Amino acid sequence: MNILVINCGSSSLKYQLIDMEKEQIRFGGSIERIGSEKALSVYKKSRKTVKEPVTARDHHQAMELVFKILTDSKTRVIRDLDEISAVGHRVVHGGEKYSAPTVLVDETIEELEQFNYLAPLHNPQNIMGIRACKAILKETTQVAVFDTAFHQTLPAEAYIYGLPYKYYQKYGIRRYGFHGTSHRYVAEQAAELMKQPLEELKLITCHLGNGVSISAVQKGLSVENSMGFTPLEGIPMGTRCGNLDPGILLFLMEKEGLSASDAMAVLNRECGILGISELSNDFREVQKAAEKGNQQATLALKVFAYSVKKYIGAYAAVMNGIDGLVFTAGIGENSPEIRREICLGLDYLGITLDDEKNKAAGRNVDIGGKQSKVKILVIPTNEELMIAKEACKFIV
Ligand code: ADP
Repeated sequence: MNILVINCGSSSLKYQLIDMEKEQIRFGGSIERIGSEKALSVYKKSRKTVKEPVTARDHHQAMELVFKILTDSKTRVIRDLDEISAVGHRVVHGGEKYSAPTVLVDETIEELEQFNYLAPLHNPQNIMGIRACKAILKETTQVAVFDTAFHQTLPAEAYIYGLPYKYYQKYGIRRYGFHGTSHRYVAEQAAELMKQPLEELKLITCHLGNGVSISAVQKGLSVENSMGFTPLEGIPMGTRCGNLDPGILLFLMEKEGLSASDAMAVLNRECGILGISELSNDFREVQKAAEKGNQQATLALKVFAYSVKKYIGAYAAVMNGIDGLVFTAGIGENSPEIRREICLGLDYLGITLDDEKNKAAGRNVDIGGKQSKVKILVIPTNEELMIAKEACKFIV
């Protein structure tokens, strides 16, 4: 059985066709720079990355290209679109209403559009992808899997901000939390690796990628997430600011003459590691510069690790302990230096790294030292497989 997983961004459409019997990717790629003259189709063939110029004026055209590539004589992935049993769409925001994956019928899509204001940089694009896909695969089951859904179990004391309550009631201003599919996946994997029921564990899962969020997962339920009303809150990320004194925003808007949308752009695109280092949002580049003695690059990495460490301390307090600490996503899976910096000085919580294991870490490994009371795990995330599994449940 093949499930197609779609993740639509503002100018890109990522796709994976997953063979569910083997739980393996049959084919995956992306259409990049949608809407520009320089649109590209990128995929891997025989371990080589193929990049081809294409015409993709909008997401509909990009979606058509995906189906053409999958059925193309060059790639020979599938012969007919009937071989796709269902489609799973990543949707960033499901508001308070959607706490579980949902089949996409016209009414659901219209309802989802009402949440666009909660995630203006993500949801409209997700919905464009859904509409394009539904227009082409009319009869195929299509399911939305929400980034916010796993965090719907947050207790009210974790999701209510110190604002007048009427704004929660009027606009739904609360902490939603994001990267839920990833946090849930790695928490389940961690329980398997630890050979303990998830229901008995207190886990802190660190999704450290372009976007960064930390979750406290207790008895298999998300009880905290560092992202908030929007994916800007929490840790300073590649280009996003993370936590700020809200007074700073008002000060800057006045001093720099920024409109709300200018300020939004600054907070989303010019801050975080890029903002502090004034070099790049790519951790690899910042790490190289730091090794060569660049002070701002070093500072950016220190701010990052310090911020993650503070959340680990806070979430251990929230759960009254911690059994497992999980690192995942681009940085979490690949940077022993960052993992080391984060774990330094956390021995009072029972967290001690084994430096050799940390350096050599592959997939699904424990990098904790012999004395470590807490399992420290590196687990590659697989949001696409999780989305595909959810979509599978709706096939009749
Ligand atoms: P996304 O959130 O878009 O899925 P990823 O999980 O792919 O992002 O993470 C991207 C981030 O991971 C980038 O900042 C990149 O610099 C970082 N990264 C990838 N490989 C490494 C590595 N070997 N060392 C340090 N950082 C890395």
